[in-house]
Amino acid sequence: MKVIVLGAGIVGVTSAYQLAKSGHEVTVVDRQSGPALETSFANAGEVSFGYCSPWAAPGIPVKAMKWLFMKHAPLILRPKFDMAMLAWMTRMLSNCTSERYAINKSRMLRLADYSRIALAELRTETGIAYDERMQGTLQLFRTPQQLEASAKDVKALAADGIPYEVLDQDGCIRVEPALRHVRDKIVGGLLTPKDETGDCFKFTNALAAKAEALGVRFAYGTTIKALDVEAGRVRGIVTDRERERMSADAVVVALGSYSPLLLKPFGISLPVYPVKGYSLTIPITDTSRAPESTVMDETYKIAITRLGDRIRVGGMAEISGYTNDLGLARRGTLEHSVTDLFPGGDVSKASFWSGLRPMTPDGTPVIGPTKIVGLFLNTGHGTLGWTMSTGSARLISDLVGARTPEIDARDLAISRYA
Ligand SMILES: Cc1cc2nc3c(=O)[nH]c(=O)nc-3n(C[C@H](O)[C@H](O)[C@H](O)COP(=O)(O)OP(=O)(O)OC[C@H]3O[C@@H](n4cnc5c(N)ncnc54)[C@H](O)[C@@H]3O)c2cc1C
Repeated sequence: MKVIVLGAGIVGVTSAYQLAKSGHEVTVVDRQSGPALETSFANAGEVSFGYCSPWAAPGIPVKAMKWLFMKHAPLILRPKFDMAMLAWMTRMLSNCTSERYAINKSRMLRLADYSRIALAELRTETGIAYDERMQGTLQLFRTPQQLEASAKDVKALAADGIPYEVLDQDGCIRVEPALRHVRDKIVGGLLTPKDETGDCFKFTNALAAKAEALGVRFAYGTTIKALDVEAGRVRGIVTDRERERMSADAVVVALGSYSPLLLKPFGISLPVYPVKGYSLTIPITDTSRAPESTVMDETYKIAITRLGDRIRVGGMAEISGYTNDLGLARRGTLEHSVTDLFPGGDVSKASFWSGLRPMTPDGTPVIGPTKIVGLFLNTGHGTLGWTMSTGSARLISDLVGARTPEIDARDLAISRYA
């Protein structure tokens, strides 16, 4: 079958690789000059199979109100008259009940666990190196209240059978020795030892090269203008190259935050909205003062990750539409969190970046068929697209090939919003 994958981010490239392995003739189309140059470029680097939850959770509306007035706030809201923003926020709030949270979390965990297996197999099969480490995520608590509040997360981890360790001050320092310099600032932590870390940009580029070797064609510098649909079936796409039409038997939409824009003219309402995040990448000058793996600073909701000879600091959720502006105040928050926990690094040499998380209101990506024959979605991976990409790719490859997927995918399709 001839398949066009729209988007060369982590989700598009992993999909293309799996589809090519299944024997399809695959073309990937992207407006950028190479793979992973938008949201998959400089994310926080966590591959969080255990630390995997929807943001829409009970108690979030109250916390969100407090965050809006905090100095180094994890949430920034720039309200504007945008129906898509209002509709998305209303839907997100309606998912903040215990019942919805449990359903959404179980879907995310199912996909994350499948991705854990898929990533390990992909690593063995391809030998790709991407500054990967397998040393877990340490959620770090600075106050006794945070430690106390983690009891319900511990209960959830135990119920889901995810390995964890509750650590005191010494335990945190054993896992992350550089924290000895700031012993007084921490009260404890929660370790999910099966979590991994790695550079999503390096991984995507290396996998794109492997995909090319399998015969995948990459059409970079090509903007997709529209879907070509005839009599309820997708025929291909229209691009900006002199209104060039590319034909296909199946099309997979993996355009991240931009996915809904292409679908809207065909009456497909995909509730994906861009939620902006920021990151800093700092060269390590003294390894004894750097993290070993990921430290999640619970106070500011900022992840501090070791990626080879660099530290990646990522976080914040800014609801402000489709803009990649870099605000200096946001840089200040990232610098504050990292220098407070890992003092001694030179943040003046850091590179600063922002990306748009393709967020669904229920935190779960949208994977599966649409009402248009031959048109499939693999998008809306929000906060955990790097983590969930490898399992999502296997799913979409099975669905396009009309094979029964290895995990239940029925409740991941867009039909769940009907
Ligand atoms: C600050 C931050 C920290 C994060 N940390 C983590 C983390 O630690 N772990 C984790 O698992 N996830 C993390 N994420 C989330 C993760 O980065 C995303 O979920 C993931 O990158 C989304 O990948 P994607 O392929 O769907 O989208 P993208 O990478 O954005 O790819 C979409 C592609 O579509 C192309 N495109 C769009 N429109 C068009 C068009 N009209 N024509 C042609 N091409 C088009 C774009 O050029 C782009 O290459 C983080 C995100 C941010 C912002």
